[in-house]
Amino acid sequence: MKVLSVVLPAYNEELMVGKACRILSGILHNAGIAYQLVVVDDGSEDNTWVEIQKAGKKDKNIMGIHFSRNFGKESAVFAGLAQAAGDVVAVMDCDLQHPPQTLLEMYRLWEEGYEVIEGVKTSRGKESLLHKKSAGVFYDIMTKATGVNMQNASDFKMMDRKAVDAILSMPERNMFFRATSSWVGFKTASVEFEVQERTAGESKWSTWSLIKYAFTNIVAFTTLPLQFVTVGGAVCFLFSMILGIYSLVQYFTGHAVEGYTTILIVLLLIGSAVMMSLGIIGYYISRIYEEVKRRPRYIISKIVRGGEDISSQTNHDVR
Ligand code: UDP
Ligand code: MG
Repeated sequence: MKVLSVVLPAYNEELMVGKACRILSGILHNAGIAYQLVVVDDGSEDNTWVEIQKAGKKDKNIMGIHFSRNFGKESAVFAGLAQAAGDVVAVMDCDLQHPPQTLLEMYRLWEEGYEVIEGVKTSRGKESLLHKKSAGVFYDIMTKATGVNMQNASDFKMMDRKAVDAILSMPERNMFFRATSSWVGFKTASVEFEVQERTAGESKWSTWSLIKYAFTNIVAFTTLPLQFVTVGGAVCFLFSMILGIYSLVQYFTGHAVEGYTTILIVLLLIGSAVMMSLGIIGYYISRIYEEVKRRPRYIISKIVRGGEDISSQTNHDVR
């Protein structure tokens, strides 16, 4: 009998996590699919962990992982993948914005032999215009960097054990799950789904955290911004040649310009170009620094399965 593991990252989801477990158990049970739910409490400040334990007492197929603090969704997903025991593993949000019925569709595709099944959004749901535009720019960059169309990509996926193991074996700490799952390749299919509205609780993303998320993931996935630095340098050089020749001609024809304004502008321009370039390079260096520290991606404080604490039996492999 094949087992499906469903990884559910949860951060401050006390209102949703119990319901999500109930609905998923119901649907998978009715479909006759052997399943395991791996709920990862990403250091929630509310009663999420209590709710996960409660759900685990009712259903032996629910496993709960409790982080020592908030490590972010990517880490939560990774921890879930590392602990999932299934032959096939799905990842979905626990706020039910990813429709559970789609899971069945994905499972059928997996049975047909597909190894990575991507959930693709038909629409971006309810979002502000600014949010949509900036997300558009971010996904444009990511699409160019990965060569995979990321415009409507989501974190809703199902992956065969082979693909999961491939992802788990990657050494980098900073991983953009959405893109990495396509990067590993394998026989891929996609399933469209409509983003549901959140019925309770609130989105964890502030504009600022989204900007940070975008930068981190661009840097984690591509070195394209470093090429901007080179291109910027070349453009500046071209300008300086033109301006240099112009000034020399002026000088030798005896009309040396009163150059204060020009010099000031050029100086400021180059100064800011240099500083921005250093900033971009600095960002990469800071990422390299983060990676070479080899810190764990997350720290698990507790693991429960079927309401029982099994922390001591499980090796806290954080790779
Ligand atoms: N999440 C998480 N850690 C975080 C932020 C979010 O595990 O630091 C989880 C959250 O509980 C949810 C999923 O990631 O299951 C998506 O988060 P959210 O619904 O806030 O994002 P949105 O749907 O608005 O993009
Ligand atoms: Mg959501």
